[in-house]
Amino acid sequence: MSKLSVRDLSLSGKRVLLRVDFNVPTEERDGATRITDDTRIKESLPTINHLRAAGAKVIIMAHFGRPKGEVNVKYTLQPVANHLSTLIGAPVGFSAESIGEVPAGLISKMHNGDVLLLENVRFHAGEEGNDEAYAKALAALGDVYVNDAFGAAHRAHASTAGIAHHIPQAAMGLLMEKELQYLQGELKDPARPFVVILGGSKVSDKIGVIKALMEKANTFLIGGAMAYTFFRALGIPTGKSRVEADKVNLATEILELAKAKGVRFLLPLDNLETQEISATAQPRSTGLVSPAKGVSDDWEAVDIGPETIALYRSEIAGAKTVLWNGPLGIFELPPFASGTRAIAEALAASDAVSIIGGGDSVTAVKQFGLGDKVSFCSTGGGASLELLEGKVLPGVAALTEKA
Ligand code: ADP
Ligand code: MG
Repeated sequence: MSKLSVRDLSLSGKRVLLRVDFNVPTEERDGATRITDDTRIKESLPTINHLRAAGAKVIIMAHFGRPKGEVNVKYTLQPVANHLSTLIGAPVGFSAESIGEVPAGLISKMHNGDVLLLENVRFHAGEEGNDEAYAKALAALGDVYVNDAFGAAHRAHASTAGIAHHIPQAAMGLLMEKELQYLQGELKDPARPFVVILGGSKVSDKIGVIKALMEKANTFLIGGAMAYTFFRALGIPTGKSRVEADKVNLATEILELAKAKGVRFLLPLDNLETQEISATAQPRSTGLVSPAKGVSDDWEAVDIGPETIALYRSEIAGAKTVLWNGPLGIFELPPFASGTRAIAEALAASDAVSIIGGGDSVTAVKQFGLGDKVSFCSTGGGASLELLEGKVLPGVAALTEKA
Protein backbone atom coordinates (compact mmCIF):
# COMPACT_ATOMS: atom_id res chain seq x y z
CA MET A 1 0.00 0.00 0.00
CA SER A 2 1.45 3.28 -1.04
CA LYS A 3 -0.25 6.64 -0.92
CA LEU A 4 0.05 9.54 -3.27
CA SER A 5 2.61 12.11 -2.08
CA VAL A 6 2.55 15.86 -2.58
CA ARG A 7 5.74 15.25 -4.59
CA ASP A 8 3.70 13.30 -7.16
CA LEU A 9 1.27 16.14 -7.91
CA SER A 10 1.31 18.80 -10.58
CA LEU A 11 0.63 21.89 -8.53
CA SER A 12 1.03 25.03 -10.60
CA GLY A 13 -2.07 27.21 -10.37
CA LYS A 14 -3.91 24.57 -8.30
CA ARG A 15 -5.91 25.47 -5.23
CA VAL A 16 -4.42 23.13 -2.65
CA LEU A 17 -6.32 22.47 0.56
CA LEU A 18 -3.60 21.68 3.06
CA ARG A 19 -4.49 20.21 6.47
CA VAL A 20 -1.80 20.86 9.06
CA ASP A 21 -1.39 20.48 12.80
CA PHE A 22 -1.20 24.02 14.18
CA ASN A 23 -2.52 23.07 17.60
CA VAL A 24 0.27 24.98 19.36
CA PRO A 25 0.59 25.79 23.05
CA THR A 26 -0.23 29.44 23.82
CA GLU A 27 -0.45 31.76 26.78
CA GLU A 28 -2.45 34.91 27.43
CA ARG A 29 -0.38 37.93 28.32
CA ASP A 30 -1.56 41.53 28.49
CA GLY A 31 -4.73 40.55 26.69
CA ALA A 32 -2.82 39.07 23.74
CA THR A 33 -2.35 35.44 22.78
CA ARG A 34 1.30 34.41 22.51
CA ILE A 35 2.52 31.17 20.95
CA THR A 36 4.88 29.58 23.48
CA ASP A 37 6.19 26.79 21.21
CA ASP A 38 5.93 26.99 17.43
CA THR A 39 7.49 23.59 16.69
CA ARG A 40 4.34 22.31 15.03
CA ILE A 41 4.10 25.30 12.73
CA LYS A 42 7.76 24.92 11.79
CA GLU A 43 7.27 21.20 11.06
CA SER A 44 4.75 22.13 8.36
CA LEU A 45 7.04 24.60 6.60
CA PRO A 46 8.69 22.10 4.22
CA THR A 47 5.28 21.25 2.74
CA ILE A 48 4.10 24.87 2.66
CA ASN A 49 7.33 25.98 0.98
CA HIS A 50 7.15 23.07 -1.47
CA LEU A 51 3.61 24.05 -2.46
CA ARG A 52 4.48 27.73 -2.83
CA ALA A 53 7.59 27.03 -4.88
CA ALA A 54 5.52 24.80 -7.19
CA GLY A 55 3.06 27.65 -7.80
CA ALA A 56 0.11 26.35 -5.82
CA LYS A 57 -2.44 28.53 -4.04
CA VAL A 58 -2.05 27.27 -0.50
CA ILE A 59 -5.27 27.14 1.53
CA ILE A 60 -4.53 25.93 5.03
CA MET A 61 -6.98 24.14 7.32
CA ALA A 62 -6.21 23.51 10.98
CA HIS A 63 -7.79 23.05 14.38
CA PHE A 64 -6.87 24.81 17.57
CA GLY A 65 -7.96 23.82 21.08
CA ARG A 66 -11.36 22.37 21.88
CA PRO A 67 -14.06 24.88 20.95
CA LYS A 68 -16.50 21.95 20.72
CA GLY A 69 -18.20 22.90 17.48
CA GLU A 70 -18.91 26.52 18.39
CA VAL A 71 -17.33 29.82 17.45
CA ASN A 72 -15.13 30.92 20.35
CA VAL A 73 -12.73 33.84 19.92
CA LYS A 74 -10.44 32.27 22.48
CA TYR A 75 -9.59 29.63 19.88
CA THR A 76 -9.20 31.78 16.79
CA LEU A 77 -6.30 30.89 14.49
CA GLN A 78 -5.68 34.56 13.64
CA PRO A 79 -2.48 34.79 15.79
CA VAL A 80 -1.15 31.71 14.02
CA ALA A 81 -1.65 33.38 10.62
CA ASN A 82 0.48 36.28 11.79
CA HIS A 83 3.16 33.99 13.14
CA LEU A 84 3.21 31.88 9.97
CA SER A 85 3.62 35.02 7.93
CA THR A 86 6.77 35.88 9.91
CA LEU A 87 8.12 32.35 9.44
CA ILE A 88 7.66 32.22 5.66
CA GLY A 89 8.51 35.88 5.09
CA ALA A 90 5.36 36.48 3.05
CA PRO A 91 1.83 37.64 3.78
CA VAL A 92 -0.62 35.02 5.03
CA GLY A 93 -4.27 35.83 4.44
CA PHE A 94 -6.85 34.87 7.01
CA SER A 95 -10.43 33.82 6.39
CA ALA A 96 -12.72 34.29 9.40
CA GLU A 97 -14.93 31.48 8.04
CA SER A 98 -13.68 28.06 6.96
CA ILE A 99 -16.42 27.37 4.39
CA GLY A 100 -18.75 29.26 2.08
CA GLU A 101 -18.60 32.63 0.36
CA VAL A 102 -16.08 34.30 2.66
CA PRO A 103 -13.16 31.94 1.91
CA ALA A 104 -14.37 31.41 -1.69
CA GLY A 105 -14.14 35.17 -2.32
CA LEU A 106 -10.65 35.40 -0.80
CA ILE A 107 -9.47 32.35 -2.73
CA SER A 108 -10.69 33.78 -6.05
CA LYS A 109 -8.26 36.66 -5.55
CA MET A 110 -5.23 34.48 -4.69
CA HIS A 111 -2.18 34.32 -6.96
CA ASN A 112 0.08 31.32 -7.39
CA GLY A 113 2.25 30.94 -4.28
CA ASP A 114 -0.14 32.86 -2.01
CA VAL A 115 -1.13 31.47 1.37
CA LEU A 116 -4.49 31.69 3.12
CA LEU A 117 -5.31 30.26 6.54
CA LEU A 118 -8.91 29.28 7.24
CA GLU A 119 -10.43 29.82 10.69
CA ASN A 120 -10.41 26.93 13.18
CA VAL A 121 -12.28 24.02 11.59
CA ARG A 122 -13.53 22.97 15.02
CA PHE A 123 -15.78 26.05 15.09
CA HIS A 124 -18.09 23.76 13.11
CA ALA A 125 -19.56 20.69 14.81
CA GLY A 126 -19.31 19.00 11.41
CA GLU A 127 -15.52 18.82 11.76
CA GLU A 128 -15.29 16.36 14.64
CA GLY A 129 -18.57 14.77 13.59
CA ASN A 130 -17.00 14.09 10.17
CA ASP A 131 -20.19 15.41 8.56
CA GLU A 132 -20.45 14.88 4.85
CA ALA A 133 -21.90 18.37 4.29
CA TYR A 134 -19.00 20.10 6.06
CA ALA A 135 -16.42 17.87 4.33
CA LYS A 136 -17.98 18.69 0.95
CA ALA A 137 -18.05 22.43 1.71
CA LEU A 138 -14.32 22.33 2.52
CA ALA A 139 -13.56 20.22 -0.56
CA ALA A 140 -15.42 22.73 -2.76
CA LEU A 141 -12.74 25.34 -1.97
CA GLY A 142 -9.89 23.44 -3.64
CA ASP A 143 -8.70 21.25 -6.50
CA VAL A 144 -6.38 19.03 -4.50
CA TYR A 145 -6.14 17.93 -0.86
CA VAL A 146 -2.89 17.44 1.02
CA ASN A 147 -2.80 16.07 4.55
CA ASP A 148 0.28 16.95 6.61
CA ALA A 149 -1.43 16.78 10.02
CA PHE A 150 0.10 13.55 11.27
CA GLY A 151 -0.73 14.49 14.87
CA ALA A 152 -4.44 14.45 13.96
CA ALA A 153 -4.37 11.51 11.53
CA HIS A 154 -5.76 9.06 14.10
CA ARG A 155 -9.01 11.05 14.12
CA ALA A 156 -11.66 10.58 11.43
CA HIS A 157 -12.73 14.21 11.15
CA ALA A 158 -14.05 16.15 8.16
CA SER A 159 -10.77 17.95 7.41
CA THR A 160 -8.55 14.95 8.17
CA ALA A 161 -10.51 12.17 6.47
CA GLY A 162 -14.00 12.99 5.12
CA ILE A 163 -12.79 15.68 2.72
CA ALA A 164 -10.59 13.19 0.85
CA HIS A 165 -13.70 11.45 -0.53
CA HIS A 166 -14.98 14.62 -2.21
CA ILE A 167 -11.88 15.76 -4.07
CA PRO A 168 -10.13 14.08 -7.03
CA GLN A 169 -6.66 13.82 -5.47
CA ALA A 170 -5.73 13.42 -1.80
CA ALA A 171 -2.03 13.20 -1.02
CA MET A 172 0.23 13.09 2.00
CA GLY A 173 2.41 16.08 2.80
CA LEU A 174 6.15 15.86 3.39
CA LEU A 175 5.84 15.62 7.19
CA MET A 176 3.16 12.93 6.94
CA GLU A 177 5.36 11.04 4.51
CA LYS A 178 8.35 11.21 6.85
CA GLU A 179 6.30 10.05 9.84
CA LEU A 180 5.04 7.04 7.90
CA GLN A 181 8.49 6.30 6.53
CA TYR A 182 9.97 6.04 10.04
CA LEU A 183 7.10 4.70 12.14
CA GLN A 184 5.90 2.24 9.51
CA GLY A 185 8.43 1.77 6.69
CA GLU A 186 11.58 1.43 8.80
CA LEU A 187 9.82 -0.91 11.23
CA LYS A 188 8.29 -3.23 8.64
CA ASP A 189 11.49 -5.19 8.30
CA PRO A 190 13.81 -3.48 10.78
CA ALA A 191 17.58 -3.86 10.68
CA ARG A 192 18.46 -6.16 13.59
CA PRO A 193 19.00 -6.28 16.48
CA PHE A 194 15.80 -4.27 16.89
CA VAL A 195 15.62 -2.83 20.42
CA VAL A 196 12.43 -1.26 21.78
CA ILE A 197 12.73 1.02 24.83
CA LEU A 198 9.47 1.53 26.66
CA GLY A 199 8.76 3.71 29.66
CA GLY A 200 6.27 6.34 30.68
CA SER A 201 3.59 6.49 33.26
CA LYS A 202 1.24 3.61 32.55
CA VAL A 203 1.60 0.12 31.15
CA SER A 204 -2.09 0.31 30.21
CA ASP A 205 -1.30 3.03 27.63
CA LYS A 206 1.30 0.85 25.97
CA ILE A 207 -0.18 -2.65 25.92
CA GLY A 208 -1.18 -2.42 22.26
CA VAL A 209 2.32 -1.28 21.34
CA ILE A 210 3.99 -4.02 23.41
CA LYS A 211 1.85 -6.73 21.82
CA ALA A 212 2.33 -5.45 18.26
CA LEU A 213 6.10 -5.05 18.68
CA MET A 214 6.47 -8.43 20.40
CA GLU A 215 6.19 -9.86 16.88
CA LYS A 216 9.20 -7.86 15.69
CA ALA A 217 11.50 -6.77 18.49
CA ASN A 218 14.55 -8.73 19.60
CA THR A 219 14.79 -6.94 22.93
CA PHE A 220 12.61 -4.73 25.10
CA LEU A 221 14.21 -2.38 27.62
CA ILE A 222 11.60 -1.37 30.19
CA GLY A 223 11.71 1.66 32.46
CA GLY A 224 9.45 4.41 33.78
CA ALA A 225 6.54 3.78 36.11
CA MET A 226 5.35 0.89 33.96
CA ALA A 227 8.34 -1.16 35.14
CA TYR A 228 6.85 -1.45 38.62
CA THR A 229 3.68 -3.15 37.45
CA PHE A 230 6.02 -5.82 36.03
CA PHE A 231 7.92 -5.88 39.36
CA ARG A 232 4.62 -6.57 41.13
CA ALA A 233 3.88 -9.37 38.67
CA LEU A 234 7.22 -10.93 39.59
CA GLY A 235 6.65 -10.47 43.32
CA ILE A 236 9.38 -7.84 43.66
CA PRO A 237 8.66 -5.20 46.34
CA THR A 238 7.53 -1.90 44.79
CA GLY A 239 7.28 0.34 47.88
CA LYS A 240 5.18 3.36 47.01
CA SER A 241 5.99 3.24 43.30
CA ARG A 242 3.19 3.66 40.84
CA VAL A 243 1.67 0.23 40.15
CA GLU A 244 -1.47 -0.45 38.12
CA ALA A 245 -2.96 -3.13 40.33
CA ASP A 246 -5.56 -4.12 37.74
CA LYS A 247 -2.87 -4.67 35.10
CA VAL A 248 -0.67 -7.05 37.08
CA ASN A 249 -2.18 -10.13 35.43
CA LEU A 250 -1.65 -8.57 32.06
CA ALA A 251 1.98 -7.87 32.96
CA THR A 252 2.39 -11.56 33.83
CA GLU A 253 0.86 -12.46 30.48
CA ILE A 254 3.26 -10.17 28.64
CA LEU A 255 6.26 -11.66 30.46
CA GLU A 256 5.10 -15.16 29.50
CA LEU A 257 4.46 -14.14 25.92
CA ALA A 258 7.99 -12.73 25.65
CA LYS A 259 9.43 -15.95 27.04
CA ALA A 260 7.39 -18.07 24.63
CA LYS A 261 8.50 -15.99 21.67
CA GLY A 262 12.14 -15.83 22.71
CA VAL A 263 12.02 -12.05 22.97
CA ARG A 264 14.33 -10.58 25.62
CA PHE A 265 12.26 -8.45 27.99
CA LEU A 266 14.61 -6.57 30.33
CA LEU A 267 13.42 -4.84 33.50
CA PRO A 268 15.47 -2.39 35.60
CA LEU A 269 18.30 -4.03 37.57
CA ASP A 270 18.22 -1.14 40.04
CA ASN A 271 16.28 2.09 40.54
CA LEU A 272 16.45 5.51 42.11
CA GLU A 273 13.98 5.85 44.96
CA THR A 274 12.81 8.92 46.84
CA GLN A 275 10.48 9.96 49.63
CA GLU A 276 9.88 13.37 48.13
CA ILE A 277 8.82 14.28 44.59
CA SER A 278 10.51 17.64 44.13
CA ALA A 279 13.22 19.43 42.20
CA THR A 280 15.46 19.41 45.28
CA ALA A 281 14.94 15.77 46.24
CA GLN A 282 18.01 13.60 46.73
CA PRO A 283 17.03 10.13 45.54
CA ARG A 284 19.07 7.09 46.56
CA SER A 285 19.78 3.87 44.72
CA THR A 286 17.76 0.78 45.59
CA GLY A 287 20.80 -1.33 44.83
CA LEU A 288 20.37 -4.50 42.79
CA VAL A 289 16.82 -5.77 42.62
CA SER A 290 15.90 -9.39 43.42
CA PRO A 291 12.61 -11.16 44.17
CA ALA A 292 13.28 -10.41 47.85
CA LYS A 293 14.58 -6.89 47.45
CA GLY A 294 13.17 -4.12 45.30
CA VAL A 295 11.93 -0.66 46.15
CA SER A 296 12.03 0.13 49.89
CA ASP A 297 8.83 0.41 51.94
CA ASP A 298 7.56 4.02 51.93
CA TRP A 299 9.89 4.94 49.04
CA GLU A 300 8.92 5.52 45.43
CA ALA A 301 10.98 4.50 42.40
CA VAL A 302 11.31 7.51 40.10
CA ASP A 303 14.14 6.60 37.70
CA ILE A 304 16.27 3.69 36.57
CA GLY A 305 19.54 3.24 38.48
CA PRO A 306 23.20 3.26 37.35
CA GLU A 307 23.46 -0.51 36.74
CA THR A 308 20.39 -0.37 34.52
CA ILE A 309 21.75 2.62 32.65
CA ALA A 310 24.97 0.70 31.93
CA LEU A 311 23.05 -2.38 30.76
CA TYR A 312 20.62 -0.45 28.56
CA ARG A 313 23.48 1.58 27.10
CA SER A 314 25.29 -1.55 25.97
CA GLU A 315 22.08 -2.94 24.47
CA ILE A 316 21.58 0.28 22.52
CA ALA A 317 25.21 0.28 21.38
CA GLY A 318 24.69 -3.16 19.82
CA ALA A 319 21.39 -2.34 18.12
CA LYS A 320 20.75 -1.57 14.46
CA THR A 321 17.25 -0.18 15.00
CA VAL A 322 15.99 1.46 18.19
CA LEU A 323 12.47 2.62 18.87
CA TRP A 324 11.84 4.59 22.04
CA ASN A 325 8.55 5.52 23.63
CA GLY A 326 8.14 6.76 27.18
CA PRO A 327 10.62 8.45 29.56
CA LEU A 328 12.50 6.15 31.96
CA GLY A 329 11.86 8.34 34.99
CA ILE A 330 10.19 11.56 36.09
CA PHE A 331 12.52 13.49 33.77
CA GLU A 332 10.64 16.78 34.35
CA LEU A 333 12.47 17.01 37.70
CA PRO A 334 16.28 17.22 37.35
CA PRO A 335 17.09 14.79 40.22
CA PHE A 336 15.07 12.08 38.42
CA ALA A 337 16.19 12.79 34.85
CA SER A 338 19.52 10.91 34.65
CA GLY A 339 18.08 7.67 33.27
CA THR A 340 16.12 9.39 30.52
CA ARG A 341 19.08 11.62 29.71
CA ALA A 342 21.51 8.68 29.55
CA ILE A 343 19.23 6.80 27.17
CA ALA A 344 18.82 9.88 24.98
CA GLU A 345 22.61 10.28 24.89
CA ALA A 346 23.09 6.61 24.05
CA LEU A 347 20.67 6.97 21.14
CA ALA A 348 22.40 10.13 19.97
CA ALA A 349 25.75 8.32 20.00
CA SER A 350 24.57 5.17 18.23
CA ASP A 351 24.70 4.48 14.49
CA ALA A 352 21.38 2.67 14.65
CA VAL A 353 18.23 4.00 13.06
CA SER A 354 16.78 5.74 16.14
CA ILE A 355 13.11 6.62 16.25
CA ILE A 356 11.39 8.46 19.08
CA GLY A 357 7.60 8.34 19.34
CA GLY A 358 5.40 9.77 22.08
CA GLY A 359 4.88 13.34 23.21
CA ASP A 360 6.82 13.31 26.47
CA SER A 361 9.74 11.26 25.14
CA VAL A 362 10.21 13.69 22.26
CA THR A 363 10.00 16.62 24.70
CA ALA A 364 12.72 14.97 26.80
CA VAL A 365 15.05 14.37 23.85
CA LYS A 366 14.62 17.96 22.67
CA GLN A 367 15.06 19.32 26.18
CA PHE A 368 18.45 17.60 26.30
CA GLY A 369 19.30 19.27 22.99
CA LEU A 370 19.58 15.92 21.20
CA GLY A 371 16.62 16.20 18.83
CA ASP A 372 18.81 16.46 15.74
CA LYS A 373 21.18 13.68 16.85
CA VAL A 374 18.58 10.93 16.46
CA SER A 375 17.14 9.67 13.18
CA PHE A 376 13.60 10.82 13.82
CA CYS A 377 11.37 12.45 16.43
CA SER A 378 7.66 11.94 15.75
CA THR A 379 5.35 14.94 15.99
CA GLY A 380 2.33 12.85 16.90
CA GLY A 381 1.80 11.46 20.40
CA GLY A 382 -1.47 9.57 20.08
CA ALA A 383 -1.12 9.06 16.34
CA SER A 384 2.35 7.57 16.68
CA LEU A 385 1.16 5.12 19.35
CA GLU A 386 -1.78 4.00 17.21
CA LEU A 387 0.49 3.51 14.22
CA LEU A 388 2.92 1.47 16.31
CA GLU A 389 -0.01 -0.64 17.51
CA GLY A 390 -0.53 -1.53 13.86
CA LYS A 391 -3.78 0.40 13.59
CA VAL A 392 -4.86 2.02 10.34
CA LEU A 393 -5.03 5.80 10.77
CA PRO A 394 -8.21 7.23 9.19
CA GLY A 395 -6.30 10.29 7.97
CA VAL A 396 -3.92 8.04 6.05
CA ALA A 397 -6.46 5.48 4.87
CA ALA A 398 -8.52 8.22 3.19
CA LEU A 399 -5.65 9.33 0.93
CA THR A 400 -5.48 8.36 -2.74
CA GLU A 401 -3.55 5.20 -3.61
CA LYS A 402 -0.58 5.69 -5.89
CA ALA A 403 -1.43 4.40 -9.34
P1 ADP B 1 5.02 9.51 26.11
O1 ADP B 1 4.26 10.81 26.08
O2 ADP B 1 6.42 9.66 25.63
O3 ADP B 1 4.28 8.40 25.43
P2 ADP B 1 3.97 8.84 28.70
O4 ADP B 1 2.92 9.87 28.52
O5 ADP B 1 3.57 7.42 28.68
O6 ADP B 1 5.16 9.08 27.65
O7 ADP B 1 4.67 9.05 30.11
C1 ADP B 1 5.35 10.22 30.44
C2 ADP B 1 5.32 10.49 31.92
O8 ADP B 1 5.74 9.36 32.65
C3 ADP B 1 6.22 11.63 32.29
O9 ADP B 1 5.46 12.74 32.67
C4 ADP B 1 7.05 11.06 33.46
O10 ADP B 1 7.17 11.96 34.55
C5 ADP B 1 6.26 9.85 33.87
N1 ADP B 1 7.09 8.85 34.53
C6 ADP B 1 8.17 8.24 34.05
N2 ADP B 1 8.72 7.43 34.99
C7 ADP B 1 7.96 7.53 36.09
C8 ADP B 1 8.00 6.95 37.39
N3 ADP B 1 8.96 6.09 37.74
N4 ADP B 1 7.02 7.30 38.27
C9 ADP B 1 6.05 8.16 37.93
N5 ADP B 1 5.95 8.75 36.72
C10 ADP B 1 6.90 8.44 35.80
MG1 MG C 1 2.54 11.47 27.19
